[in-house]
Amino acid sequence: MGALLQKLEEKRLLLSDGAWGTLLQEKGLEAGSCPELWNVEQPETVRSVAAAYAEAGSDLVLTNTFGGSTLALRRHGLMDRTAELNEAGARLSLEGAPGKLVAASVGPTGEFLPPMGDLSEEQMREAFAVQIRALLKAGIRILCVETMSCLEEAVCALQAAKAVAAELSVEVEVMATMTFNDTPRGYRTFMGVDCRSAAQKLSEAGAHVLGSNCGNGIEQMVPIAREFRLNTDKPILIQANAGLPRIENGVTVFRQSPEHMAGWVPRLVDAGASIIGGCCGTNPEHIRAIRRQLDRLL
Ligand SMILES: [Zn+2]
Repeated sequence: MGALLQKLEEKRLLLSDGAWGTLLQEKGLEAGSCPELWNVEQPETVRSVAAAYAEAGSDLVLTNTFGGSTLALRRHGLMDRTAELNEAGARLSLEGAPGKLVAASVGPTGEFLPPMGDLSEEQMREAFAVQIRALLKAGIRILCVETMSCLEEAVCALQAAKAVAAELSVEVEVMATMTFNDTPRGYRTFMGVDCRSAAQKLSEAGAHVLGSNCGNGIEQMVPIAREFRLNTDKPILIQANAGLPRIENGVTVFRQSPEHMAGWVPRLVDAGASIIGGCCGTNPEHIRAIRRQLDRLL
């Protein structure tokens, strides 16, 4: 059994971390620029985010590698630096959060398979494989495939993880989460995937942990977690935004307080989630408040 599932068995409920993009933007990262470039240009800042979440009580800290696939980096003209930027991102979280589980973030490529795009599944798997190879070589053993809308893309990332782990003869645990919207036909990703198909397909593709991140506040995550629970026996990870987005002075902001978010944690646990963290708009204060709440439940 890998370190993540083992820790989960020991502690029953685990706390993940909060937003990275939100914190890096507060520290000067400009919208539209490449966050992963900061792994080499502003390493202290990136390491300080990992350290802040470790200090706030996270059991699990992610990495600044969300847009680290070759296809996502290509849009910034940085495809050739895929290995370097991912390796640096892995190292900064391992250094910033010693003694914690570190899960490397793997986000969408931003490209589409047919019929929406013309990328082949083989190309998509390769885009993830280059990223994942660098992460595993840097010592990562847990991956977090997140913010996925397309089920086939998430499966490509899971397949790439399995192939690269076999190639390097290492054991890897993979968490896979998708982003849902509340629609008249229930919760669906913008590509139309519902929670039931997500739970079944991600599970079949070998995810060790599955669930949802982003797109919703913690209230909406309760029914999402429940639907996952009905369709899988695997542990469920939920990383909610700090409420729904609001536009203030032309900027998207999330304003839900740490206390409000933490207050919903027992309902999320009842619905089936066992790894809980935050997504957009959450910061170490939200994580600290959720820590206190989880400690009361343990
Ligand atoms: Zn988010």
